[in-house]
Amino acid sequence: MKIYVDIIVDISHSSLDRIFQYRIPKSLMDEIQVGMVVNIPFGKGNKQIKGYVIGLSDTTDYDVTKIKEVISIASDSVSIESHLISLAAWMKERYGCTVRSALKVLLPVNRKVHEKVNKEIIRLVDEETLQKAIDAWKQKKYHGLYRAGEYLMHHKKVMQDQMTKDIKVTTAVLKNLEKKGIVQIKEQGIYRNPYGIGIKPTDKIKANKEQQRIINEINNHLGEENKIFLIHGITGSGKTEVYMQIIDKVISEGKQAIVLIPEIALTPQTVKRFIARFGHRVGVMHSKLSQGERYDQWRRATEGDIDIMIGPRSAVFTPFSRLGIVIIDEEHEMTYKSETSPKYHAREVAIQRGEMTGATVVLGSATPCLESYHMAQKGHYTLVTLKEKAATSHSLQVDVVDMREELANGNKSIFSQALKIAIMDKLERNEQIILFLNRRGYARFVSCRQCGYVVKCDHCDIPYTYHATGAQLICHYCGKTINMVKKCPACESKYIKQFGIGTQQVEDLTKREFPQANILRMDLDTTTKKNSYDTILGSFRDGKADILIGTQMIAKGHDFPKVTLVGVIAADLSLYMSDFRASERTFQLLTQVTGRAGRSILQGRAIIQSYTPDHYSITCAKEQDYEGFYEAEIMYRQLMGYPPFSNLLVLLLQSKHEKELITRSFELARDIGLVAPGLGIEVIGPSPANLSKINHTYRRVILLKTKDYKTLTLFFNKYMHRLHVKYNDITIQWDMNPLISY
Ligand code: ADP
Ligand code: ZN
Ligand code: ZN
Repeated sequence: MKIYVDIIVDISHSSLDRIFQYRIPKSLMDEIQVGMVVNIPFGKGNKQIKGYVIGLSDTTDYDVTKIKEVISIASDSVSIESHLISLAAWMKERYGCTVRSALKVLLPVNRKVHEKVNKEIIRLVDEETLQKAIDAWKQKKYHGLYRAGEYLMHHKKVMQDQMTKDIKVTTAVLKNLEKKGIVQIKEQGIYRNPYGIGIKPTDKIKANKEQQRIINEINNHLGEENKIFLIHGITGSGKTEVYMQIIDKVISEGKQAIVLIPEIALTPQTVKRFIARFGHRVGVMHSKLSQGERYDQWRRATEGDIDIMIGPRSAVFTPFSRLGIVIIDEEHEMTYKSETSPKYHAREVAIQRGEMTGATVVLGSATPCLESYHMAQKGHYTLVTLKEKAATSHSLQVDVVDMREELANGNKSIFSQALKIAIMDKLERNEQIILFLNRRGYARFVSCRQCGYVVKCDHCDIPYTYHATGAQLICHYCGKTINMVKKCPACESKYIKQFGIGTQQVEDLTKREFPQANILRMDLDTTTKKNSYDTILGSFRDGKADILIGTQMIAKGHDFPKVTLVGVIAADLSLYMSDFRASERTFQLLTQVTGRAGRSILQGRAIIQSYTPDHYSITCAKEQDYEGFYEAEIMYRQLMGYPPFSNLLVLLLQSKHEKELITRSFELARDIGLVAPGLGIEVIGPSPANLSKINHTYRRVILLKTKDYKTLTLFFNKYMHRLHVKYNDITIQWDMNPLISY
């Protein structure tokens, strides 16, 4: 008989991240289950705290006379599917986080939220009767009743929310009115579904031949063990329709589906399309939902009230008990990796969950992430492709302009002649233009405007980052530091300097060049206010502006049917980030953003400006040639030993004291160096972080590199916690296979 429970306590302290055992009292013997939250006595003072039940057993290794008893089941907490507990344990292993922190992300709400009930107030008496009552209340100075009475004269039926908003009526007054028989209060529970209002249902589209072939192929293998599909389909090839028809089959078999999208705000159409097709069987989960809304979605999933959950990365944890499929749209997007601990990747979690539950995983993208495509090449994923546009549309003409030639011809403006002429032309025709700045974070590389040369670390083949203090160039992969160059090492020109331009600057220059145009700008600065994102996009779509200037925010799946020209100001901006993924990101961004010009019924055009126009990221984006890009990039990764041919673990070290941080980071690197090589792990650094000082805090990084991911977890579990204690005078954070450069 199971009379003991294994528990993870709900206290944030890494030394408590282990299993404690408690005895189950007789009264709870049949009730306690894995996944529940219980109240337990803890510590010397037997303070009551909460704990997660992660296992049940009939024996204990502890002294049975000393073992404590569970107090009760925490009634205001929600419990989870037991297989999700195993998933939390897997996350601890994989990402070096605590089980408790893994459980925290698994439970989107850790407290029951009372169902929101809006009441309807219905007046039962006629106006004459009410007037008599009002007069009496006035005389007796019953202000609350009097005010409510006056209000009800004009409102025979009203929602309580509305009434409270209008006259600040209290619940006591309403109860009193009900008692007197003047009103009836009708309760109606409402589901908080922030979407789904005003969306017209749509029917299935008849799949074309290409789509049908993929639908058949995937449907034939549903439920098979470890089945992972990668759909490589160009933008507009109808991937979403394919997803929906596969889900049809999944649902018809009584199973459930999770659909992950990069970010709700960036892809509202996708959500709407799912709701239009599947109606109330769809739940939407996202970070901006209120606690109550999240709880509702979560409960509907647990109770099997919905078949499909759509949402960003955290929706991968949706507590479905009959999970049949997880679909990850735009699987290459960085938003699938969590930026806070546990720094999990939704794709990895989905695949793990698939392995645990037998659910099929489908990844889709026009520009699959290199790792995924590599897995498909090796036969671990099944690759299927969609090469044609589903709905007919015009082809897209992409031109690349060599900015070095512009300079040679005396044009120092940010606009090439070709782009200038194209913008003028579109303005005259009343068509719309997007000017795109493919900036990500901080680009601070140094390059030559005359020949395009970029100063790189010879060891890592990564561009040096310019640090203004001391005018130094630092490699963020190995720490190598050199003095700022004064002349171009390749052509001796003095036009070699730090490269960078911001959206504000582009806006100013555009206004000066095209004073007749209406211009909108969209970047982090202009979208801080809630909804400003939708407002800007909405007014652009409505034709209230001619030119939209923005960063990668505008590259995503928005439909702008009147846009016929996309200008990429300087493709080099993202190409020479100090990040080994820079080429991949650039290719993805360029492919996405130039695709914005191909949505119109009119002929679309894209112009990419660059100082290194022969780079394969740019030439392949021009030709929309993913395979060509993959071949070139995978060779580079193999040559340099970057992922997928290695695994990286970044240790980010922080302290307010610079000297101490430098000393301690060298000591830590040396300590790691004592054990790491024996495991086949290479230790690189310490070196200053890309952002070496933020908010009075200094930052340095140590990079661990290994072929086999298992050795990273081995190192982590065996040594890292000990080192963490020894170096507790500095802050240590870690990220396994990071997608951002630290
Ligand atoms: P993707 O997700 O691959 O970018 P979408 O699913 O958004 O592509 O499809 C692009 C457009 O083509 C949409 O407007 C969609 O309604 C339409 N479409 C998709 N499949 C078909 C089809 N079989 N017949 C006609 N139109 C289709
Ligand atoms: Zn040069
Ligand atoms: Zn280097």
